[in-house]
Amino acid sequence: MKSSAIFLLKYCRVCKEKNVEKVASFGPTPLANAFLKSSEVDLPECYYPLDLYFCNSCGFLQLGHVVNPSLLFKNYVYASSTSQVFIKHFQDFASKIVGEFSLNKDSLAVDIGSNDGILLKPFKNLGIKILGVDPAEEISKKANREGIPTLIEFFDSKIAKKIKKTYGSADIITATNAFAHIHDLDEIIKGLKILLKDQGVFIIEAPYIIDFLKNKYFDLVYHEHLSYWSVRSLITLFHRFDMKVFDVEKVGVHGGSLRVFVALNSSDYKIKKNVRSFLKQEKLARVDKKETYVIFGSTIQKSKLALIKLLAKIKSKNKIIAGYGAPAKGNTLLNFFGIGNETIDYIVDDSPLKQGLFSPGKKIPIVSPEYVRLHKPDYLFILAWNFADSIIERYGDFRKKGGKFIIPFPTPKIV
Ligand SMILES: [Zn+2]
Repeated sequence: MKSSAIFLLKYCRVCKEKNVEKVASFGPTPLANAFLKSSEVDLPECYYPLDLYFCNSCGFLQLGHVVNPSLLFKNYVYASSTSQVFIKHFQDFASKIVGEFSLNKDSLAVDIGSNDGILLKPFKNLGIKILGVDPAEEISKKANREGIPTLIEFFDSKIAKKIKKTYGSADIITATNAFAHIHDLDEIIKGLKILLKDQGVFIIEAPYIIDFLKNKYFDLVYHEHLSYWSVRSLITLFHRFDMKVFDVEKVGVHGGSLRVFVALNSSDYKIKKNVRSFLKQEKLARVDKKETYVIFGSTIQKSKLALIKLLAKIKSKNKIIAGYGAPAKGNTLLNFFGIGNETIDYIVDDSPLKQGLFSPGKKIPIVSPEYVRLHKPDYLFILAWNFADSIIERYGDFRKKGGKFIIPFPTPKIV
């Protein structure tokens, strides 16, 4: 990996052709997870271009600029297990995989980007051998302390060899919401091929481009999120490595994600019929056409105007708005829309790691849920829109006492 902070990609990450073209711009913005300490609030921040590029050769959508992953992931503060929705999701995921692939106490499951062990914990409880790989130092150390063995590394072919030597080959390798963050996919796949058993399965979960387009989820665009996956692009990618996508399903997390099953071409898995129906659906949604993304960019501009109008109306009545949830995507939204402290007084987040910090770019203070109970804002602006239903349910009391929620997307509305 290059040691500079950022570089512009000259070729497509999936097909390697030098035929990429800019189709939309959301920046420059600071890194979406670069939350600031109070001592850093007055210091200048680094802003990086945030532009979507389309490959005219294979139809893949990707960020044009790659920020050095050490800057993005070593100090990652986002702990997955702070969300009950995710905990349940990964418990269900682990049970399903253990059943479907007949895993037992001799099976090894390796998770790339394992975070605090949110997926490995249920695997462990089901009696499977586990290993996590994650470059985020604090979160990985915490996982190790809690009995989730985790290598504090970026996964690559060198680490794959090391794991194989110490732990043996893997039955299952997972990358849930990490695959879209990886620049050097070739290196990852080389590692997979070293580590997987002949009948081993690699399982990816990543946001799905069809949901991204349909629901105008532009705020999934941030510097960590390098790739915007379709089944079509995944097939193109793995084909180069003699691997096949043999099963695909939709899952509900992140407002609509893909779960994709990949194995060696030489393995026994037959390609299921549903793979073809996903491809058909993608053709209909024109995910492989440049115009689709140009239109996408302009519709976001319209949504932005509608939201700003709505917020201006509320602020003209001197109401207090608190942001709810400080995910990376919330920072794309705030920075790209230019919504700052003049509109949102503070942001509430469940993660103690974020409380006491300030949002990157807009420098809005992040507080604990307790703060909302004490200060009773008029509105909660749901930045973590993908949890809107569960947040509204959890804050039933807030609503009973006259509080209202602002859901910014896909169509800005007050509930
Ligand atoms: Zn390409």
